[in-house]
Amino acid sequence: MSRDQSHRARRHGPSSFRCGHCGLDVSMHAPGTAHRNHCPSCLWSRHLDDDVAGDRDADCGSLMEPIAIHVRGNGEWVIVHRCSGCGALSLNRAAADDNALVLLRLAVKPLAQPPFPLERIARL
Ligand SMILES: [Zn+2]
Ligand SMILES: [Zn+2]
Repeated sequence: MSRDQSHRARRHGPSSFRCGHCGLDVSMHAPGTAHRNHCPSCLWSRHLDDDVAGDRDADCGSLMEPIAIHVRGNGEWVIVHRCSGCGALSLNRAAADDNALVLLRLAVKPLAQPPFPLERIARL
């Protein structure tokens, strides 16, 4: 899809968007969330919202990398995105059809790459 076409689609109130990272066509309607703002396959997002989720107020438009999982008090998983353009961080609730493997990989990343030898924990 050309840049032109995607702009036209946006004015019409799009029902889908193309992931800027993996190229998947993503439906805007996601189970468990009002605003699908990330790709369910690779979890990358785009910097579109400014202050409030869904406000589509940001001028940035750069791709946002999923960098971590945050767990809310009720056990809900939230994906932490960092904008590759301006560095802004945002929290986005995981959707029910997000790729579970990619979510898990993100969640265990710090354990897979500890900054100290894990054997040391045995001596604590
Ligand atoms: Zn994607
Ligand atoms: Zn940005």
